[in-house]
Amino acid sequence: MFEDIPVDVSPMYEGERIRAANMFVELAGPKSIGAELVQVKQDVKNGKVNVIGPNLSEMKEGEIYPFGIFIEIMGDKLEKELEGVIERRTHELCNYIKGFMHLNQRDQIWCRVSKEAKDAGFELEHLGKALSILFKEEFPIIEAISITLYTDKKEVEAFIEKTTQKYEERDARARELSDEDVDVFYGCVMCQSFAPTHTCIVTPDRTALCGAINWFDCRAAAKMDPDGPIFEIEKGKVLDEIKGEYANVNAVMADKSQGTVDRVYLHSVFGYPHTSCGCFEAVAFYIPELDGVGIVDRDFKGETPLGIPFSAMAGQCSGGKQVEGFAGLSLEYMRSPKFLQADNGYERIIWLPKAIKDSLIDFIPEDLADKIPTEEDANSIKEIRKFLREKNHPIIERLKETKKTIKEIDPVEDETSKDMETIPEIEVGEVPIAQVAYAPELTIPSTSGGVKIIFKNAKIYAEKLIIKRK
Ligand code: SF4
Ligand SMILES: [Zn+2]
Repeated sequence: MFEDIPVDVSPMYEGERIRAANMFVELAGPKSIGAELVQVKQDVKNGKVNVIGPNLSEMKEGEIYPFGIFIEIMGDKLEKELEGVIERRTHELCNYIKGFMHLNQRDQIWCRVSKEAKDAGFELEHLGKALSILFKEEFPIIEAISITLYTDKKEVEAFIEKTTQKYEERDARARELSDEDVDVFYGCVMCQSFAPTHTCIVTPDRTALCGAINWFDCRAAAKMDPDGPIFEIEKGKVLDEIKGEYANVNAVMADKSQGTVDRVYLHSVFGYPHTSCGCFEAVAFYIPELDGVGIVDRDFKGETPLGIPFSAMAGQCSGGKQVEGFAGLSLEYMRSPKFLQADNGYERIIWLPKAIKDSLIDFIPEDLADKIPTEEDANSIKEIRKFLREKNHPIIERLKETKKTIKEIDPVEDETSKDMETIPEIEVGEVPIAQVAYAPELTIPSTSGGVKIIFKNAKIYAEKLIIKRK
């Protein structure tokens, strides 16, 4: 079947990573542009593969090129609603090809071709051909498939414009529904190959964290293949409407994660946030010093107020983990009226990159838009605090309230502080009670032969953190 293709094609290559040293070229990715799109059409010439722009043999080793993958499919039983889910499989199927690596989705794709594949004579036509065969095998309802691969910069730019419009059409449709309007949610376990405890729960208000699959897409996919990776979850008993906790969702999470995760809040980063695989478009992260939540997306290249970039943060909360204070999410979810509603939604957001803010401006409450800083306004905790105070962000009121409550509970607070005056100390922050650490397992190593303390499933709250020299 793959005899004309000069490299092996098999699911066994799915986990293959192509590192920079072994890379012939990079296609799309963070340093270039790219996108992928599947469209159901009426007139598709089966097996046609078109390459528009330089082919691999015309590329220079070590360079990065723009890249577009346009897949047109035809079939009596194919519905428009299946486009998103079929498109999402591009990631997995591309990775069956030895020497070709594909990451992410939509206009975030990032591909690499290995030197070995290039030396074996691999060209983009082979990628198109392999994908045509794999897609037809995976989805027998595809009767004809044709693939166009773009590497010419202008063509890729025009293609991205088209994809943006198509993604928006899909997303806008899902915006018309909300969680209360439906009796079923959906689960997706497509990412369990690398995040074994992860299940995406997709509801009308919570598009999957990869941003590529919404409730309508899931409905079509579950109908087409009820035993496939996307399945129905009866909404059933609502345990907490605001947090978004459902008995059946909890049961599915427990079942699909082999008991690792048995509770999930769909609309909060606290308590039991949604697990994260690694494909999320953005991460919501708690900033304990200000008791607020920041957002960072994949395209943001600088450091977040936590002092780490997106990549490091993604590393801490991906792989199917449930990490309190962090939640991977799609940008589309930030357009939902239920966006982190249990945490006060946008009232709790105290930092986000300018590009996201601009793209979501119609969905951020008008009275808050100017009060949320971006990297252009503030970056450190100190700068953010100053900005929030100047703009009178609602979090300031919240901080004052918390402080007041603590004083009421603990009238000796001031006395205690006086006793500590002579001791050099590090203050955790402005919040009187702030969670300073949460980890499923945290080890404080012994540095001089003393004791080693291991906290398991512990949450640590501290009014102040004092480190004394012995
Ligand atoms: S991120 Fe979620 S919805 Fe998207 S493919 Fe993975 S499991 Fe499915
Ligand atoms: Zn994923």
